[in-house]
Amino acid sequence: MAGKRVSAWKVGDVEIFSIAEVVELEDDMSVLLEGGTPEMALQIPWLSPHYITPDGRMRINFQGFVVKAGGKIIIVDTCIGADRQREYEVFCNLKSEYLNDLASIGVTPDNVDIVLCTHLHFDHVGWNAQLKDGKWTATFPNARYLFGREEYEHWMVLYRTHGYHNLLHIDECVTPITDAGLADFVETDHRINEEVSLEHTPGHTPGHVSVRISSRGENAVITGDLMHHPIQIALPTHTARFDMDIKVGAAQRLAFVEAAADRPVLVIGTHFCAPIAGHVKTDGAAWRFEGLPTAGAADPSP
Ligand SMILES: [Zn+2]
Repeated sequence: MAGKRVSAWKVGDVEIFSIAEVVELEDDMSVLLEGGTPEMALQIPWLSPHYITPDGRMRINFQGFVVKAGGKIIIVDTCIGADRQREYEVFCNLKSEYLNDLASIGVTPDNVDIVLCTHLHFDHVGWNAQLKDGKWTATFPNARYLFGREEYEHWMVLYRTHGYHNLLHIDECVTPITDAGLADFVETDHRINEEVSLEHTPGHTPGHVSVRISSRGENAVITGDLMHHPIQIALPTHTARFDMDIKVGAAQRLAFVEAAADRPVLVIGTHFCAPIAGHVKTDGAAWRFEGLPTAGAADPSP
């Protein structure tokens, strides 16, 4: 089963792993795309059989990543977390294998150097902290946690004004980190090291970033929630209901797809189910996603 949860890629000298906490959740396309229908999805042939069900519903993963670069262990997004009360029933009281799956690729709570959150939604900050002796405590005590300055300030305004329907994840997974002095507030173009840097991709949230990886002439990008499903490569400007700023989100996706099309850049979709990574290709007047067959990850567990 962990084989479905853990995938791995190599980009130059950099190793990238995905750790999925929720695999292939099925939901209606209309949850993501304004006016989305099964027919809309079924008209795009390459979405089958991996990314949609035979009746045109979307499949998405909830996952985070580990990037091993320049001798550092960098976690990109920390999923939802176990035993939480979250805004949707499906994410409440989750039984999570996240920490075991990290261990299967040699990552322990103590050896993580950096935790980066692409943005501060509940499904990207979950394992920042865990409940220890009744107190929310940093899961990775030796890491620096990188929060976007702009993103953090945005959520602090929501927090003060009660401007979002559920802010429990800020109390549980963000504030304990800042209180412990483990957070660094970074700009949206921050460079983590020679091989890993951030790229501002606002729209979904104001301070949202994607993660660019470059090593020995090879390139990859972890999208974050710039997009949620490969259908958005075919329809980048279609209104995405998860975007806080719909116009900016659409413009960012279009620019991203145009820049990635027919280039040797490995696009790794934060909410894509397998094949999680692949290439953007022009496809008539639009684009398609050509998923890489998922290599059997470095995953010894059954
Ligand atoms: Zn998300």
